[in-house]
Amino acid sequence: MKGSAEIAKLLKERGLRISLQKLEIAKHILGTCRHFTAEEIFREINTDFPRVSRATVFNVLNLFAEHGLLKTLRARSDVLLYDSNMAEHDHVVNSKTGEVYDVKFTPEERDSFLQAMWLKNPHVPKRKTASVVIHV
Ligand SMILES: [Zn+2]
Repeated sequence: MKGSAEIAKLLKERGLRISLQKLEIAKHILGTCRHFTAEEIFREINTDFPRVSRATVFNVLNLFAEHGLLKTLRARSDVLLYDSNMAEHDHVVNSKTGEVYDVKFTPEERDSFLQAMWLKNPHVPKRKTASVVIHV
């Protein structure tokens, strides 16, 4: 977790205007390595900061994603996840619990997973840089 001054500096560097809500949300998620839904952050933020609306949380998370502070992740069919781990990595999803884990495949492993996935799902665009999501 980072301090307020450090976070304000980071937001400014990314071209974002500072607001109390943005600072609260950023403090809560940046510098962590986790996957979350907007709804989860809305609930967590409002335990100690009860005046941030659901719409604000959704908007701020999308803004952070647009400005490279978060990644979005389609690891579950039911909901969009955000990922605060900005390093290049892949994911393994537990199909039963929906839990998402960070993994780092070697280029060879990634290539063979992608080839197998494209074989099964020809409609998926063939991008070598795509991060791999495996459901187990
Ligand atoms: Zn991740």
